[in-house]
Amino acid sequence: MRKRIGIAFFYHESHTFSPVKTGIQSFYEEGYYKGREILTAYRGTKTEVGGFIDVLEQAEQAIIPLVCAAAIPSGVVTFDAYEEIKTAMLTAIAEAGKLDGLLLALHGAMVVEGVSDPESELLSEIREQIGADIPIAATLDMHANVSSRMLTFTPLFFGFKTYPHIDMYEQGVRAAQTLLFHMATKQPIYASFRKLALMLPSVNMRTAEGPMADLMQAAIEAERNPHIISATVLGGFPYCDIPEAGASVIVVSTDQTIGDAVSDALAAQLWAARDQFVMQLPSIPEAIALAQQIEADKPIAIADIADNPLSGGTGDTTGLLRELLLRDEDHALFGAMYDPESLQACMNAGVGAQLKLQLGGRLAPEYGEPVEVIAEVIKLSDGRFHNTGPMNTGLGIDTKGAAHIRVRKLDILLTGRALSANDIELFRHIGIEPTLYKLLALKVKNHFRAAFDPIVSEVIYTDGPGLASNVFKHFTYHHIPRPIWPIDDIDSLPLIE
Ligand SMILES: [Zn+2]
Repeated sequence: MRKRIGIAFFYHESHTFSPVKTGIQSFYEEGYYKGREILTAYRGTKTEVGGFIDVLEQAEQAIIPLVCAAAIPSGVVTFDAYEEIKTAMLTAIAEAGKLDGLLLALHGAMVVEGVSDPESELLSEIREQIGADIPIAATLDMHANVSSRMLTFTPLFFGFKTYPHIDMYEQGVRAAQTLLFHMATKQPIYASFRKLALMLPSVNMRTAEGPMADLMQAAIEAERNPHIISATVLGGFPYCDIPEAGASVIVVSTDQTIGDAVSDALAAQLWAARDQFVMQLPSIPEAIALAQQIEADKPIAIADIADNPLSGGTGDTTGLLRELLLRDEDHALFGAMYDPESLQACMNAGVGAQLKLQLGGRLAPEYGEPVEVIAEVIKLSDGRFHNTGPMNTGLGIDTKGAAHIRVRKLDILLTGRALSANDIELFRHIGIEPTLYKLLALKVKNHFRAAFDPIVSEVIYTDGPGLASNVFKHFTYHHIPRPIWPIDDIDSLPLIE
């Protein structure tokens, strides 16, 4: 008998200090699919939902596609947008008839107006509707802020083990396989959860090297124990001023005692490594000076982490742009600048035109005023392409238009949406070849390295003015649990719950 498995996706990383609220339009722009549209959008992609689909199709189970909605990280999700998506999901579940299981791809760091733990609220309402007996398995982003409440709705959580996140598909596969296995065997499964009073910056959270690489190695080793189904270390998302903020560990097991021991060990290791996550980064002028000292045959990347849209940056700060123009930097590429007004002006003027533009600095002018330039329009595009890099491979992207402009010697990519330069196609689709530049000045943090590491000689991180600054004292927190490290001085491992 084929089992009927619902699949759904609700994804947002919410920066509660951002002035840019996330309304329903942001979900429409990034991806909002219902029913069979989901299969068209995600089948064959290296995403969590792509993983769900592959496992269920190979196992010849019936896929019941429900609702998938994602928006680029930005400010808190409006209550209306959350209600609209949640209602659509609950309605789709109700209309689907009897389900045997449910697969959910969640982020875990969403915040909604008036709701600090929306993933738990969503799970609570889904449980109310489908009852306690239908198994649910869910994936989580490594930057999830998980509450103990979430674990009361299901023990089956699978967090990403890579940053850049290139194992979304694998975790989707594991969630789906475990769900099917659990449905077949009815074997009891337990979750061991440890929440730490740790709010970690993510700049040194990459899994290629450093403290998170060691932790992921330990988690993978723990999974060799046949009782351990999954061991997840979550770094958390620090730009959430909510009681649920902070790093955590989730161990899914068939033996609660063994699971508890593994989660204690991983929590202790994370706590012991905490100092390694904190980095002092150069200012923008210092970063450019560092880049100028390097002789290399491949481009040098400057990562302006404080305006990384995938950390909730507005994507339109001007600090790095201003400095590059001031220095008349040669063979440099800057992007992407989110500036729909300037983009429209370029579209109106056409390729080859010269025009005056006020670039960026609109959404959060406290981080830098617009920069006035005379620009030449080199090329225009509709901004549609498919990712070719290792992250979200194959996923369709729509930048809502793009323009390649040139200001003196500086090449700039303008987009109609805020986007991290995570895939080289962002540039190549409009004819910009990043390998031909000496300097790539990008609004990114770490995800871009999955695609860009092979083409750059070095990455220099800079903490310019912006919403995703590495320095938490730039933000006034009111709702996070206290004490919490590194804001407060704590010297012994504190477990919140
Ligand atoms: Zn993440």
